[in-house]
Amino acid sequence: MGTDLSEPVLFDNVSIEDRHYLPVDGLNYVESYFAASGKGQILYYTESKYRICKSCGFSERTYKTDNQNWAQHIIPYRNIKCPSTAFEELRFGTSKITDILYVRINRTKIGIFQHLNDRKFWYTLLQLILETIPNILNIERNDIDGLIWTNENLQYEMILFDDVPNGAGHMKIVQQNLKAIFEEAQKRIVQDCCDRACPKCLLTFCNQHYDDFLDKNLVIEFFHNYL
Ligand SMILES: [Zn+2]
Ligand SMILES: [Zn+2]
Repeated sequence: MGTDLSEPVLFDNVSIEDRHYLPVDGLNYVESYFAASGKGQILYYTESKYRICKSCGFSERTYKTDNQNWAQHIIPYRNIKCPSTAFEELRFGTSKITDILYVRINRTKIGIFQHLNDRKFWYTLLQLILETIPNILNIERNDIDGLIWTNENLQYEMILFDDVPNGAGHMKIVQQNLKAIFEEAQKRIVQDCCDRACPKCLLTFCNQHYDDFLDKNLVIEFFHNYL
């Protein structure tokens, strides 16, 4: 199942009225809200569905073409064919309770920036921030992760989290250093290395499959106008 897990998804337990975003000192169009471990959860689910026998519990990954052999399965741990053909299809999921940092752009303060509703802009910004954090703080890249979330108002936000059960305190430090992180991120992305994304600026082993979602020009434009 390891390779079948989805990108992380935020399950938010804190409503928008209760999230008190703090403006970042010296970068006042960026705001962040820190949710300590337990307030929210990060979910991962299987991309594939699994078909579960209602009688014996046998399960297998569902492929589009494999309807014909379902009745032939063997009861788990016993060498007996299961007579049941009743099954349900579902996805498995797992959740992680950890510290979460919501990062949003204040749309009133920023005015018109044409890429604010562009997922590519947000995804690129997320990857850039995740790669920049270990450069300036004593935090390992593997100990943090993030996702792009659509909030209650259907606006994108960047969600960063400690990729360590129950949190390791990294997000509090990240929140306190957002200005420095953004400034370092700008230096990283304005290098004259490529047209869109390359290993020097954005591409990593983790995100190489999402190459199509990365375009550094959108983020350069953002920094150029607002940093
Ligand atoms: Zn069965
Ligand atoms: Zn590059």
